[in-house]
Amino acid sequence: MQKDQLLSRRRMLLAGAAALGAAGSAGAFLAGGAEDGAGTAAPAPAPGPQARQALRPSAFRLQPLTGDASPRAAPHKLTVRKEPILRISGRGRRMMLTFDDGPDPDYTPHILDTLAKYDVRAMFFVCGECVVEHRELLARMADEGHVVGNHTWTHPLLPTLDRKQIRSEMKRTSDVIEDAYGERPQWFRAPYGAWNRAAFQLGAELGMEPMAWTVDTTDWTEPGTGTIVDRVESGAAPGVVVLSHDAGGDRSQTVRAIRTWLPHLLDSGYHMTVPTRRV
Ligand SMILES: [Zn+2]
Repeated sequence: MQKDQLLSRRRMLLAGAAALGAAGSAGAFLAGGAEDGAGTAAPAPAPGPQARQALRPSAFRLQPLTGDASPRAAPHKLTVRKEPILRISGRGRRMMLTFDDGPDPDYTPHILDTLAKYDVRAMFFVCGECVVEHRELLARMADEGHVVGNHTWTHPLLPTLDRKQIRSEMKRTSDVIEDAYGERPQWFRAPYGAWNRAAFQLGAELGMEPMAWTVDTTDWTEPGTGTIVDRVESGAAPGVVVLSHDAGGDRSQTVRAIRTWLPHLLDSGYHMTVPTRRV
């Protein structure tokens, strides 16, 4: 896959999103909600054009964001968080799904298939060393409207590294994401949720917001498909960010679990969202 093709494909997606935004993102979102509210009992409605539009990333905005200060243009105005974002706005019964540690050719495609089946977008926090092996999976994420975040190159415990090493872990990963996905990541997640001051500072310098989670499925412990389903469904609430893993071990339980919990949450009236692109 040529980078130019990737970039143009990504641009088309973004252009479509911008057009929708110009037409009134709130209207698009409300239309989707009204549709669902008056909806029939069909468990997995085939996503029509209306549903697709209602779920476009541009129809939503995470809050709060740090604004549009460009690190390159005005480093002295850089806003550095002291804590990561843990939740999103819950308006409209929104939730967000995130998948860490991939991409992995054995599991990520199945998760993407399930998300596509229900016309849902998610965030994937990827590791650079996995991306270089499977760039095609990032191209697919771009094609299908998912948001890719930076999860470092080798998944180290950041507080054990010096600044230079942390910067290298983050920057190399942003570079390979840009190459494979078509744009640089705007979101960063520390491995193991182990943040430190340097990680916040360096992430901000690289143009990224720190994103954590609200509900941990602990799927990496392979607790059983049913347990993963229970954890997601009992933790579901407006504004919740769900953490799952699509790599790093045997993730077949994760793959099977989402096939159960995702339609359940959608039937319960939740809308899965991803952050809009900062401009
Ligand atoms: Zn991780």
